[in-house]
Amino acid sequence: MSDIFDETATVESNEAVAVGHCRVRLHAPWIAAAAQPGQFVNVQCGGRTLLRRPFSFSRVVGESFEIVVRIIGEGTRRLSKAKLGDDLPVLGPLGRGFELTGQVKRAVMIGGGCGIGPLEMLGRALIENDVETTALLGCQNQDTLPLNPDELQQIGIETSVAVMTGKGGHVGPVTDLLEEYLDRAASVEGRMLFACGPWGMLRKVAELAEQHEERCQVLLEEMMGCGMGACMSCACEVFLPDGGTTNKKACTDGPMFWADEVNWNARD
Ligand SMILES: Cc1cc2nc3c(=O)[nH]c(=O)nc-3n(C[C@H](O)[C@H](O)[C@H](O)COP(=O)(O)OP(=O)(O)OC[C@H]3O[C@@H](n4cnc5c(N)ncnc54)[C@H](O)[C@@H]3O)c2cc1C
Repeated sequence: MSDIFDETATVESNEAVAVGHCRVRLHAPWIAAAAQPGQFVNVQCGGRTLLRRPFSFSRVVGESFEIVVRIIGEGTRRLSKAKLGDDLPVLGPLGRGFELTGQVKRAVMIGGGCGIGPLEMLGRALIENDVETTALLGCQNQDTLPLNPDELQQIGIETSVAVMTGKGGHVGPVTDLLEEYLDRAASVEGRMLFACGPWGMLRKVAELAEQHEERCQVLLEEMMGCGMGACMSCACEVFLPDGGTTNKKACTDGPMFWADEVNWNARD
């Protein structure tokens, strides 16, 4: 495991980026320097939220990192109201991030909802490594899309959007776009799928990856307590090479897992 830092981060910016979502930039030099795509940070949100809340790195800017937050409960609500100059205890980088070896030549990133956040950092790393990259982003409607697709396009990532209702892209689940992509673009050596989003979306991505014999990494953003492997609340079922199953901890064994190692039928 690489070094983990306990820092007091200062809020540098905090802006609403979509309905129910904000982007928070935190100055924390040690964590920003060590953060890798797919890893996360535990943030003390204050108030009555005793346990720190996990958020994936979305971007590193100098000595700061950014997280994209979907506001769902007390911790994320407090975070959305954090003011410039506020100090927040943060712990990170945590977990096993995406594997980016030289063998990855072509990448397809599939993100759903707040799972889009970590794909931004991944996309930037892929482009820096000269990997031809496509992003397929899905959200409820265009007002809830937490990342402007133009930002990805500008750095050379071909980006498509799917919305469940309204305008702004393909209407339907983002996995429709993946299916269409995989049917159209013949398999090439070194292609890798990377996905982050809700369980149902990831299960469908894993199914398509298996059908098309594509390697696929997923980020499992399980509910978790400690984030450091002690409390076991983020256990998820994975297959062993002999076909049996075991539990792994999303916080320290993941959150990145290979799609074909996860038992997708272990839950609804
Ligand atoms: C590794 C990891 C990375 C994450 N990255 C991001 C990110 O980049 N952006 C982001 O917005 N969120 C992310 N999350 C989810 C985020 O941590 C939770 O939304 C947050 O902890 C909720 O805190 P809260 O106090 O606002 O809500 P709480 O009051 O704790 O919960 C409100 C409701 O949400 C449910 N809930 C809480 N956590 C989760 C969860 N992880 N999955 C499903 N339901 C949950 C609760 O059961 C409850 O119903 C990540 C989670 C993990 C484990």
